[in-house]
Amino acid sequence: MPKAGFISLGCPKNLVDSEVMMGILARNGYEFTPRAEEAEVLIVNTCSFIAPAQKESIDTILEMAEYKTFGAAKKLIVAGCLVERYRQQIIEQIPEVDAVIGTGELENILAAVEGQLRFDAGAAASLPSYLYHDLTPRILSTPQHAAYIKIAEGCDHPCTFCIIPQLRGKFRSRHFESVVREAESLAAAGVREVTLIGQDTTSYGEDLGLRDGLPLLLERLADVEGLQWVRFLYCYPNRVTQRLLDTIAAHPRLAKYMDVPLQHASRSVLARMKRGSNGDAFLQLLRRIRKTIPGVALRTSFIVGFPGETDADFRELCDFVKAAEFDWMGVFPYSDVDNASSFALDEKVDEETIKDRQNRLMEIQQKISGRKLWRFRGARATALVEGPSRDTPLVWEARLEGMAPDIDGKLYLNDIEVAQTDRQECLSYKTARPGDVVTVEITETHEYDLVGRVVEILDVPRPTALHSAVTGPVQRVSTGAVLRVLA
Ligand code: SF4
Repeated sequence: MPKAGFISLGCPKNLVDSEVMMGILARNGYEFTPRAEEAEVLIVNTCSFIAPAQKESIDTILEMAEYKTFGAAKKLIVAGCLVERYRQQIIEQIPEVDAVIGTGELENILAAVEGQLRFDAGAAASLPSYLYHDLTPRILSTPQHAAYIKIAEGCDHPCTFCIIPQLRGKFRSRHFESVVREAESLAAAGVREVTLIGQDTTSYGEDLGLRDGLPLLLERLADVEGLQWVRFLYCYPNRVTQRLLDTIAAHPRLAKYMDVPLQHASRSVLARMKRGSNGDAFLQLLRRIRKTIPGVALRTSFIVGFPGETDADFRELCDFVKAAEFDWMGVFPYSDVDNASSFALDEKVDEETIKDRQNRLMEIQQKISGRKLWRFRGARATALVEGPSRDTPLVWEARLEGMAPDIDGKLYLNDIEVAQTDRQECLSYKTARPGDVVTVEITETHEYDLVGRVVEILDVPRPTALHSAVTGPVQRVSTGAVLRVLA
């Protein structure tokens, strides 16, 4: 069967789409290769959120097009958010591209690679409405002990800087039991941690008429045997209810972790972003979260340089960050995307000022992060072993409960062997493996990362064999199946 090569750009939601498209091709006999020069079919799943992401997507498409001349590639397929934005232009301006698939057309991937997909200009007119479910074939590309579950797609919020509603359609939730079944089959397949994603996970179930949909779902997932942690990302601030916080606090399997992108803290900037609220209300929210969930790790993200952001607004944001003391924080430079409604706003901030503000805010956070991680020095904590580090050889990586995959700091392990004595007092050594849940002792702390050693391997039951336990069509191939994941 022909070999396919996948490049998945952008966010974890796009990665799940890549995994679904890989599942559909695998079900039809396709194999995957991590080497672009070997692939007969190349698929680039693109991102188009902001200008730099659009540029990266186009550069990657052009790079992969070369393999139609110098490699085995006969077909080049472009999928994802860039298609929703530039469907016609991609086909007209990049002749090497054989077919395009929008974010709502994942199931067209087979027809596309087999040359049976006719270009449909009309598809651009309708908003995507597709949602995968637990019987949709899916190839997992994440390390074998961790997986994302997309619980909803699309967004109905009017944030003026964001074009995701145009790229991903109206907010729509997956069915409750479908998500639960997927989590159960992932756990049966050896997954230790599931991370729930969507554009706004806190609105989960509203369109299904479910009240408190996310807390209800989390309560159910907290009972799934085999999972160590259930985590969720992308909370919308004014959707964080006391019911949600109480649920997280009540269940050990629910990670004591919250990701609440706030975007800014100045009332006037938040108003121009059509997000509302203000810094004082956000500080109250953070106090409520920390009071209800002791030891919770808090992540957020901000945009600097939004049109109309004054020096005073930026100072207010800096003061807010100093007071809030987040564990993890992302700062994004405002990107003036021409089909976002903020494009029409006046008082644009110049590039240099935006860059300067991004650096200054990250400097503030670097000190806070270093100070907060210092408290782990000499402490013991539970960690999930990831495996050999890609950053530096000879050390392994792991994550604490307060560290989400791919976006937060890491725990580097410089000793993964544990001495143990059996009943006959014979000394032996046990080595931790990827996916093991262990107790670590933290020996060093840095600005964003920790260093430690394994002191105990917790005997958490593991499914014997992979495929035998898998009920749904979740399959796993070696992590190298996706050519490149650029988040
Ligand atoms: S909530 Fe997030 S995805 Fe939705 S419009 Fe706002 S920024 Fe975009």
